[in-house]
Amino acid sequence: MKICRFDNSRLGVVQGDQVLDVTAALSVIPEQRWPIAQGDPLILNLRRVIAAAKKLLPKARRRPLAKVKLLSPVPNPGKIIGAPINYNDHIAESVKDPGIAHGRTNIQKGIGEWGLFLKANSSLVGFGEEIRLRWPDRRNDHEVELALVIGKRGSRIPREKALEHICAYAIGLDMTVRGPELQCFRKSIDTYSVLGPWLVTADEIADPNGLDLSIKVNGETRQNSNTKYLVYDVQRLVEFGSAMYTRHPGDIIMTGTPAGVSPVKPGDLLHAYVQGVGEADIRIASAYA
Ligand code: MN
Repeated sequence: MKICRFDNSRLGVVQGDQVLDVTAALSVIPEQRWPIAQGDPLILNLRRVIAAAKKLLPKARRRPLAKVKLLSPVPNPGKIIGAPINYNDHIAESVKDPGIAHGRTNIQKGIGEWGLFLKANSSLVGFGEEIRLRWPDRRNDHEVELALVIGKRGSRIPREKALEHICAYAIGLDMTVRGPELQCFRKSIDTYSVLGPWLVTADEIADPNGLDLSIKVNGETRQNSNTKYLVYDVQRLVEFGSAMYTRHPGDIIMTGTPAGVSPVKPGDLLHAYVQGVGEADIRIASAYA
């Protein structure tokens, strides 16, 4: 099932070029008192929400997908986790191009030594919004990635159980201003984390380590690869991070980007694709924020 959040936080099921409005299914999410539980309430209750949505589908109001504003399908993740240098061809281009690596000399040591980084939750938007670039004098790059959504709480998750902890997949854009600072700073600018265009539930993706992914800028292909080239594959990323911190329902993992990262400018149109998830456009706002 493809699940989206749209317009004024309505809940939708995507079928072809239509969105079926199943907002009433959100009523199964219990009211929470402060302090709220760790995790995104939609994802914490996803099974019940899906069961309720299925009952609503036959009579649901249909809207053309092109007419709705798609928001991040996970509104309140506990954390957004990024995987640095997780495709060998991206490592190679980072070594070659000082505009990417900014003097870092330990690129080749690999993700095992770098670990993972966190992006601020306040950076998260959906494909119906715009990316608002900052730093006109600096290089702002696109990074297209497969995004995982954690559905089940877990710490020290072993590789064999990793897929059980993933409830959904999406396209992730890990937008980045290049420079000498830590990733958590450079990749946390408002609108620099894009998730969507919707969630595809994990039952629709037999093997997340074999998905084509690509991005075009103004119609020109810049990145085009397959998740089979991940250095740390999907299961290893879940295992690796959960050795350090508990994974909570709604945590988002952006799995890393292949070669072809390149600068974007105000007004550019990005078109991102992940096999089995779908494809969508997102616009870079016409002026710097
Ligand atoms: Mn990235």
